Amino acid sequence: MFAKKAPMVLSHTQEKTLRQVTSIEALRKEVALFHAKKKKVGFVPTMGALHAGHLSLIDTAKKQADIVVVSIFVNPTQFGANEDFSVYPRQLEKDISLLKEKEIDLLYQPSVETMYPPGFSTSVSVGPVSKGLCSDTRPTFFDGVALIVAKLLNQVQPDVAVFGEKDFQQLCVIQRLVTDLDLPVKIVGAPTIREDDGLAMSSRNAYLDEEQRRIAPELYAVLKEISGMLATTDPSIDELIAWGERELLERGFDSIDYLTVCDAKSLKEVNDTKRPVRVFGAAYLGETRLIDNVAVKHKS
Ligand code: AMP
Repeated sequence: MFAKKAPMVLSHTQEKTLRQVTSIEALRKEVALFHAKKKKVGFVPTMGALHAGHLSLIDTAKKQADIVVVSIFVNPTQFGANEDFSVYPRQLEKDISLLKEKEIDLLYQPSVETMYPPGFSTSVSVGPVSKGLCSDTRPTFFDGVALIVAKLLNQVQPDVAVFGEKDFQQLCVIQRLVTDLDLPVKIVGAPTIREDDGLAMSSRNAYLDEEQRRIAPELYAVLKEISGMLATTDPSIDELIAWGERELLERGFDSIDYLTVCDAKSLKEVNDTKRPVRVFGAAYLGETRLIDNVAVKHKS
């Protein structure tokens, strides 16, 4: 008699191995294997320094696809000359252990040279939706985002890609890009994940000192108050915004970049709320610029 073979079950101590690639060629080989097995591929692009917001996008991708690819790439073309590219938080070991815990299938970590080899000279610019809001302070940001997302989607060739509503204008720019360039991928927006006190999670929150961290949740608080007033009463939007700006400064913000109510699709400023709208805010604590946005939910 032959001894009975142990069943092929993964024990709790056996982690799924995280496959890691850095070249476009290796990435394409891995993804081709998934597609050959008729697996639906989900993709979550990040700049690393992962937090629960990023991990929630992975959960959304898992629900939409059979396998999940995550990229980590701090994209130089989306940082302005005086911005924080060189000091942007990088914590690769911790990120890899978080991704192993999440049991994602593939991590893609290209180098700057892989993404932008010598001679690279193409730009991608998306129309009106990338104007206003964040682009007034960061005029080249959305061109950088559109370029890198177009490249990543073309390299990974996912069926579904997930982006956070935390960066709502970015999500709109990417939706426009994918529609206009006929890219065969479904773009899914995922809700903003917050700290217990309401502050939207962000890798840049690490820049805040203790006092700034105490003040930071007030951005969400003010956006929520404005959104609540718009949902329940019919106030003058101008007066409400002026009130919100005063509140942000009184509650400790150093300056305001923008505070505004916009159409949730075109992102054009509106004077009424007879359509889906969102309240958008960006404000500074010292050098750190925080952004957030909240939907106006009318009680029907
Ligand atoms: P980043 O690494 O900051 O480029 O972000 C990568 C992705 O995570 C983008 O789609 C962001 O919108 C999303 N993201 C960042 N912060 C959050 C958050 N607090 N909740 C949900 N998604 C987020």
